[in-house]
Amino acid sequence: MTPATGDPPLLSIVVPCYNEEATIDIFVATITPLLDAIDPAWEIVFINDGSRDDTLKVLRAAAAAEPRVRAIDLSRNYGKEVALSAGLDHAWGRAVIPMDVDLQDPPELIAPMVREWRAGFDVVLAQRADRSSDTALKRGTAKLFYRLIGRLSDTPIPADVGDYRLMDAKVVAALRAYPERMRFMKGIFAHVGFRTTSVDFVRPLRSAGETKFNGRKMFNLALEGIVSFSTAPLKIWTYVGLAAALGAVVFLLYVIIRTLITGIDVPGYASLISVILLFNGLILTGLGVQGEYIARIFAEVKGRPLYLIRERIGTGASVSPPAPARLSRPGD
Ligand code: UDP
Ligand code: MG
Repeated sequence: MTPATGDPPLLSIVVPCYNEEATIDIFVATITPLLDAIDPAWEIVFINDGSRDDTLKVLRAAAAAEPRVRAIDLSRNYGKEVALSAGLDHAWGRAVIPMDVDLQDPPELIAPMVREWRAGFDVVLAQRADRSSDTALKRGTAKLFYRLIGRLSDTPIPADVGDYRLMDAKVVAALRAYPERMRFMKGIFAHVGFRTTSVDFVRPLRSAGETKFNGRKMFNLALEGIVSFSTAPLKIWTYVGLAAALGAVVFLLYVIIRTLITGIDVPGYASLISVILLFNGLILTGLGVQGEYIARIFAEVKGRPLYLIRERIGTGASVSPPAPARLSRPGD
């Protein structure tokens, strides 16, 4: 659907914000001259992801001061993946760039990205040349995650690439057609394909404020990534079960033969209890893994809206955005 009035801007910058009152003004002030130098036809779409601080107030002021800045106020905190999806649904530029508001995605990279896009690429990834701004723990777990998902998933997910990238409007339209509720954006981004290239950068430290991701959130994101993009954890239990059954047959034969030769032998509590405990553990793990998938099937089947919007802020907000395909279902 094309918006009611006007031509689409050349660039849409999509920025999810959660408790970012300290960083928004720095972001707008830094990025505006850089965008103007490329083309004055740009828009910034902020998504307020249910912030509990004065983020909304700061966004209102930013939108009032600059007509090319607008904001989507979500009804609560949905998490970065959903906030990003909301932003992509409402960005109507000919190229769209999701960015973090803390300037950890260096805006100087936009110009080289646009250059690659104009050279004919549909997706330009910002690839982190090194991760020295991360803690050793984050580096280590990230490496482990990419190695794991690389082996388990049929969709190759590029390592050291965040959400920062330029996407042509047709790629964004393809993304809108992904109906899933459980959203692992790195995976969905990789899944759409298209002609892709990358530019390198070194990730700086946050401009202000602090990270919104703790160990638990990162673990859940990694789990989401693996379960959304691989069924290997579900299938492995067939092999675990077969191997265990084979081992059990061998052990059974051994016990029968030994009983025939040496007579009945009652002691054996230790071996019995360890086998029982081991297999109970395996069975529960297998059930748990199935539970992870069933929970996701349940979430998809309910078909709830991905997010709810409380308010659209800014003059550009009167322009009707593209209808998100995932909210309309056959028969509606
Ligand atoms: N963010 C969000 N919703 C959340 C958590 C984070 O929209 O629930 C936004 C946050 O405001 C920032 C971006 O996601 O613009 C990245 O967050 P952060 O800088 O805390 O992550 P890190 O860079 O430490 O991985
Ligand atoms: Mg950050």
